[in-house]
Amino acid sequence: MENPVYARMASELARLKASGNLRALPVAESRPRHVVFEGRELLNLSSNDYLGLAADLSLREAFFATLSPATFLPTASSSRLLTGNSAACIQLEETLRRLYGAEAALVFGSGYHANTGILPAIADRDAEIFADKLVHASLVDGIRLAQARHARFRHNDVADLRRLLAESSERNPKGARIVVTESLFSMDGDAADLRALVSLKREFPNVLLYVDEAHAVGVRGPTGLGLAEEAGTLADVDFLVGTFGKALASTGAFAVMSGLARDWLVNTMRTLIFTTALPPVNLNWTNFILERLASFADRRERLRGYGAAIAAAVRARGCDCPSVSQIVPWIIGSSMDAAARAQQLRAAGYYVLPVRPPTVPEGTSRIRFSLTAALTPEEVTSLAAAIH
Ligand code: PMP
Repeated sequence: MENPVYARMASELARLKASGNLRALPVAESRPRHVVFEGRELLNLSSNDYLGLAADLSLREAFFATLSPATFLPTASSSRLLTGNSAACIQLEETLRRLYGAEAALVFGSGYHANTGILPAIADRDAEIFADKLVHASLVDGIRLAQARHARFRHNDVADLRRLLAESSERNPKGARIVVTESLFSMDGDAADLRALVSLKREFPNVLLYVDEAHAVGVRGPTGLGLAEEAGTLADVDFLVGTFGKALASTGAFAVMSGLARDWLVNTMRTLIFTTALPPVNLNWTNFILERLASFADRRERLRGYGAAIAAAVRARGCDCPSVSQIVPWIIGSSMDAAARAQQLRAAGYYVLPVRPPTVPEGTSRIRFSLTAALTPEEVTSLAAAIH
């Protein structure tokens, strides 16, 4: 008889297929600004290369010139706590600390490691976590792993969060309260009101702010540090997480925080301790990009204009579009319809994929335009015209 594990796999996959939610790994070869998909070259509107740095050959050439076989180290060979704490890692953390004006910085293998590691390390049984309803799966998993109680507040609803914080402060005045949000939301492209969150932090006892800036680092702020820089709230964010795999065209993640918090994480954060450190060559490349980040203001400016133009095109079609950034959702509703729209746009030369549950709530399947400064104004105009 068939093993029940396989029987369940087969029936669940059949169910996903019937509802239009079956996923498969796309076979799409990446070119600098394009993707080769089913034999055709399509404009890439699905990557997170927001500034176009991954598509910029001259940057890679300049970085290559700094390497030799002796300095090209493709592996760290062990954890940070053994022999993996490379000079490249120490230098990168110093760069981050300096740029953010923070007490301390810590680099991780990925944003997923950061979010699933920091929250369980800092939130014990006496703490309570309050997370925006739409935070990324890695934050949800970090919350699940933490021993703290938790509650979700309605998306970007400061009044709802205030209500929860007031209740919690009354119930447990001495406990810690950790507010978790993204700054630019990955699927809606809208922004948290960081200043309002800072006011709440001041209003209630023992509140810490944990902000995931994965989609804002590089893209927002006068020097590209993210939305907290833009909002003037850097000093009030207790844990600011950023990732290197999106606008910074690299891999890995970081958090800036207090020196005390860094010492604590080095001693307790399982996804930092029990994993191999990032290879020095990747860390060096990230550092190379970060040192140039402030100089990409023209790309940030261009990208903002592109985001506004595509959001306007979606709205002109009569659809609500919450975007205030380079991430522009065209919310279609059913997964089948979203998949059909994506197929039409690919036929017109644009590489887009449907985003479906469980990545987004049921009934809000969408096309997610992930724009990049590497697009030309003409390409953006044509794309806007293709949204009809
Ligand atoms: N946080 C957010 C908001 C994200 O969108 C993502 C990735 N999509 C991550 C964290 C995870 O980062 P990484 O890809 O480096 O694991």
